[in-house]
Amino acid sequence: MTEAKATPDPAPLADRYLECTSPATGERIGQIEVMGEEAVRRAVASARQAQRGWGELPVKERAERVLGFCDRLIERAEDLVDLLVLETSKPRLEAISNEILVLADLIHWHAKHAPEILRPREERLHLLKHRKSTISYVPRGVVAVISPWNYPLMLPFSDVSLAVLAGNAVVLKPSEHASLVALRAKQLWDASELPPDLLQVVTGGAETARALIDAGVQKVSFTGSVDVGRKVAEQCGRNLIECVLELGGKAPLIVCADADVERAARAITWGGFANMGQACVSVERVFAHAAVYDALVKRVGELVRELRQGAPEDFDIDVGAIRLERNLAHLDALVADAVAKGAVVAAGGQRLPRRGNFYAPTLLVDCSPEMRVMQEEIFGPLVPMMRVDGDEEALSIANGLPLGLSSYVFSRDTEHAEALARRIEAGSVVINDVHSDIASPEVPFGGIKLSGYGKVHGIEGLRSMCITKHVSANRTPLPARSPFWFPYDSRDIPRAIRGLRLLFTRHGPLGRLSQWL
Ligand code: NAD
Repeated sequence: MTEAKATPDPAPLADRYLECTSPATGERIGQIEVMGEEAVRRAVASARQAQRGWGELPVKERAERVLGFCDRLIERAEDLVDLLVLETSKPRLEAISNEILVLADLIHWHAKHAPEILRPREERLHLLKHRKSTISYVPRGVVAVISPWNYPLMLPFSDVSLAVLAGNAVVLKPSEHASLVALRAKQLWDASELPPDLLQVVTGGAETARALIDAGVQKVSFTGSVDVGRKVAEQCGRNLIECVLELGGKAPLIVCADADVERAARAITWGGFANMGQACVSVERVFAHAAVYDALVKRVGELVRELRQGAPEDFDIDVGAIRLERNLAHLDALVADAVAKGAVVAAGGQRLPRRGNFYAPTLLVDCSPEMRVMQEEIFGPLVPMMRVDGDEEALSIANGLPLGLSSYVFSRDTEHAEALARRIEAGSVVINDVHSDIASPEVPFGGIKLSGYGKVHGIEGLRSMCITKHVSANRTPLPARSPFWFPYDSRDIPRAIRGLRLLFTRHGPLGRLSQWL
């Protein structure tokens, strides 16, 4: 049992507590404080204080210290895995590979490259040759990170690490459904060489998150559902603070006629059922060409029926329980709607008659676009498959939804797959693989349409944690008055017009030159 304290402060900060329960057993595993406005404001003030010195440090030194935190995470990997398993019911190997390993890789890549990515650079001006422009990446101040429950270590601490490398402090509001892992990671942070106050963890639900956005932070990095994302965007808009929104997905996976069926079948099974299908990049819709459909359905069915489900305290399982009890009813409703409209249950299709939130890994075949399961985010162990006559049909249905996070294409012809990828409306398209987009630290990740805006990871993700600042200096001593300054002289007008024509008509005397300036 884990009793987690959100703050070591002896003053009573919370008026309420939330119970934390295990998805696999329903048993109480701890409690978290629901922190109110006052506590949140104090957390932001402490973070701001700590940021002042931190933001002054050379990036290389910040990177060294963030790597020290990563060392603590790795040293305590077994302990973190135990807690991840207890709190989320994900299989142990996934807790290691998809949470700790992916996070450690992301921290290492960004720590190594941050000094170069954040180094001030000179922009050569094409016209104002006498001026020198320097672009620098300045810390914003305090970044709020608001995160979901599905990857309670990897997701929030990716944002935390990038924000801190960029010189900011962070106030993290983890999901109320998975805060214990974040609190344990905060203890490891405090035991590292990082300033303890640089990271604050505030616990609670929606009201705590809303208080945080209003508490004077300079940026919000939000990961969660579309509905809540809209509210976060509105609130950030009222405060005029920038936000990045990493929202829901409905990843299509298109299997072309020439695909390797065995690889596609294994990718669908892993990509659809890893983390019990509770990933924003989960395979949520399969469109298979008629030439391979029957073989693919048969093979995926076999693989799904082979999945071993159980409590993740048992080591050899592939699929655990789902995090929220209420999602069991959502899965039932999706299956019932699909079956009523002609889908066939090829595996699973119901809850397990045992304690805990267990839903059997479910495969629905012969699906069609009007079914809810083909339109709504599933976020559970359920994959729908549909037969299509060709790429055009698959593309038009895939692009017909207002979501666009990840997507997948399977084909042996890379050029053909890349041509399809260019036409898929999504933030990323992965060819002949699944989930590797979110696990590649060097590439920007983020959706389009209702899947959100802004990018995390890579050069764009790291720089977006900063203010991009421009300083313009003169290269040479300057006269007291510049040509376009007051007082205006009407004799300058014809000169200015002549200058315009010389420079900016394509066939004028200097027009051709202007493109090289
Ligand atoms: P959620 O939107 O219910 O909650 C996310 C966070 O927002 C939680 O910390 C919650 O307390 C907080 N919150 C709730 N109401 C709020 C409000 N009014 N203002 C501010 N914050 C508020 O999402 P969830 O159920 O925790 O996570 C599942 C969703 O997250 C899925 O839709 C999934 O696709 C999405 N997700 C997206 C990504 C991505 O990278 N795009 C990654 C993981 C999960």
